[in-house]
Amino acid sequence: MIDLSTSIEYLKGVGPARADLLKKELSIFTFQDLLWTFPFRYVDKTQFHRIADLGPASGDVQIKGILRTLNLLGDGRKKRLVGKLRDESGVIELVWFKGIHFLQKSLIPGKEYIIYGRINDFNGNLNIAHPEMEAVGVANPEEASTFEPVYPSTEKLNGKGLDSKGRRKLIKYLFDQLIQKDIPENLPEYLLSKVRLVNRFEAIKNIHFPPDIQALEAARNRLKFEELFFLQLRLLQIKNRRKGAVKGFIFEKIADYFNGFFNEKLPFELTGAQKRVVKEIRKDMVTGAQMNRLLQGDVGSGKTIVALLAMLIAIDNGYQACLMAPTEILAQQHFQSLSEYLEGMDLGVGFLSGSIKGKKRKAILEQLKAGEIHILVGTHALIEPWVEFKNLGLAVTDEQHRFGVAQRASLWKKSKPYPPHVLVMSATPIPRTLAMTLYGDLDVSVIDELPPGRKPIDTIHRTESYRLRVIGFMKEQIKLGRQIYVVYPLIEESEAMDLANLMSGYEALQREFPPPDFQLSIVHGKMKAADKDFEMQRFANGETQIMVATTVIEVGVNVPNASVMVIENAERFGLSQLHQLRGRVGRGADQSYCILMTDFKVSKEGKERLSTMVRTNNGFEIAEADLKLRGPGNIEGTQQSGIINFRIAELGKDQKILQTARSLAQRILDHDPELEKPINQPLKQFLAKEKTKNRTWSRIS
Ligand code: ADP
Ligand code: MG
Repeated sequence: MIDLSTSIEYLKGVGPARADLLKKELSIFTFQDLLWTFPFRYVDKTQFHRIADLGPASGDVQIKGILRTLNLLGDGRKKRLVGKLRDESGVIELVWFKGIHFLQKSLIPGKEYIIYGRINDFNGNLNIAHPEMEAVGVANPEEASTFEPVYPSTEKLNGKGLDSKGRRKLIKYLFDQLIQKDIPENLPEYLLSKVRLVNRFEAIKNIHFPPDIQALEAARNRLKFEELFFLQLRLLQIKNRRKGAVKGFIFEKIADYFNGFFNEKLPFELTGAQKRVVKEIRKDMVTGAQMNRLLQGDVGSGKTIVALLAMLIAIDNGYQACLMAPTEILAQQHFQSLSEYLEGMDLGVGFLSGSIKGKKRKAILEQLKAGEIHILVGTHALIEPWVEFKNLGLAVTDEQHRFGVAQRASLWKKSKPYPPHVLVMSATPIPRTLAMTLYGDLDVSVIDELPPGRKPIDTIHRTESYRLRVIGFMKEQIKLGRQIYVVYPLIEESEAMDLANLMSGYEALQREFPPPDFQLSIVHGKMKAADKDFEMQRFANGETQIMVATTVIEVGVNVPNASVMVIENAERFGLSQLHQLRGRVGRGADQSYCILMTDFKVSKEGKERLSTMVRTNNGFEIAEADLKLRGPGNIEGTQQSGIINFRIAELGKDQKILQTARSLAQRILDHDPELEKPINQPLKQFLAKEKTKNRTWSRIS
């Protein structure tokens, strides 16, 4: 038997130097890691193409033919080696620009070769540059006619013979010595037959050396399932255990604060969805276990009021609550709207952020400790160790995906004897599949209904030639008393240019919208916080009609009178960002508009994003589209979670597998929460083994 946890340097053909490189470049430390670094594509070498059948779009092809000629052409930088390969159907040109000297010596005209490469269309003439060449008869017969795996590599690895080909050899060598028992099955028999999965040994073998496409698919399917299944099993187990073990405050009372607010202050009727979520939260708060709930709702769906009602329950039971937001502006806005909602009620609402210093900070911290502040609103300053509550009973975080899991957890330590109940609000709708994984350890509530009277935002895509008409439209809207956002992209890599763009856009608008009839605000990241706030405030108060801004307004600002969102260079924004921006309008009773401005030329993916925005207002639908377009690694907020660094599963594509995995994991745990039954022993053992070595899992548990 071979122990797969053996350090990679002991594999024949590796040694200390190459082992070092494998560790550094690919995190391959052990035999097991080598086997579990899967090919990212396969080259189809099961068939040969006929030269006569090739066209400009043939892509990667394998051809068998005789090398007829080999000639050195051109000189200086244009020097190239040109060969002609002929099969029974025709002739194709091969060219090399590098390594000419070596190739001239090793390639022999008249000999038969198997070549592999990509077809180029060079002014109507097809050729292949730098093809792989293998003389017929020399090739390893076992490697011939297969789907050849291609492994991720780097220049450093290539330089040390650890390119795809070199690694293939290592894996082959290792695999030839393995027996079934070396890669033990970790799924119980009943699961294998239920989901119709191939066994683990076979899957690993066929992912590296697939005899045919069916075997490859079966292997991939099995490995994806395994990966997603164990993650879900683990997440659900954490969730179940926490529910059982992490005790929480019992907030049974619904008293004066909640009732007083609900009956006298609540400025509108709650939507059905809001009512349902408040009920869910209430239920959580009396179980005796800590609440850990994710509240998902599209922008403008009314999450704040739900959070406030939850906080009032905590206060009715004699406890404090806090609300943490990811930016100063958003935190301030929350502070303001909570203060307004609660006006006239005998409640202390405090604000804390990095910008609150000195005496002011000291006073707040003292009031907090004395229990005079009932609700503390702020930025991540709230989690600093010197922030001490008298008795924190509920911690609400807004736009949670911007906070790390560790930050969320550090709020837990701020109360005794139990951690506070936790309500996580996310305005970036996340596809269900992704939510299951990113927040798999939380219960999920969804506000899937907008407050009544909201008209869907009218979204249109316009190119530069419509500029004048867009400006005319803006003027009309301002005449109707509405306000307008004009947003410019600003990213770090092109910051200077973006800023210049913003400024020239601002100046152009100033010419179109001159004082005294019009007033403009401008806000961007390079301004001082105080200046930003001043400008924001003027816009919020209706003193200015147009707010020209970079994405700093992306999060949170609430100006119900704003009804037009113009997004410049809209093709440069991601889908979720566009959706967030659009959510800034449509908050009042008036019909709102979102105008996506672009050049004529937009990439295919850009067009897809724009048409998605035009098609739908539904944040969840947009999130699904985003996931499909870009994959989960690019969805905002997922990168730092680390959870989605799968070896083989792709959340965007493998939603079905994920759903199956999740529901099976759930069913197994329903019947056997601690996996004690004999038939579930493979699961239990595998989880125990993985826990000690898998970084990802330790991060979420
Ligand atoms: P978000 O979910 O984006 O945080 P907010 O809580 O900021 O949304 O609510 C958006 C707007 O909708 C606010 O002006 C709020 O007062 C209003 N609102 C919330 N719930 C209702 C409701 N049930 N009926 C009418 N207006 C509501
Ligand atoms: Mg909000």
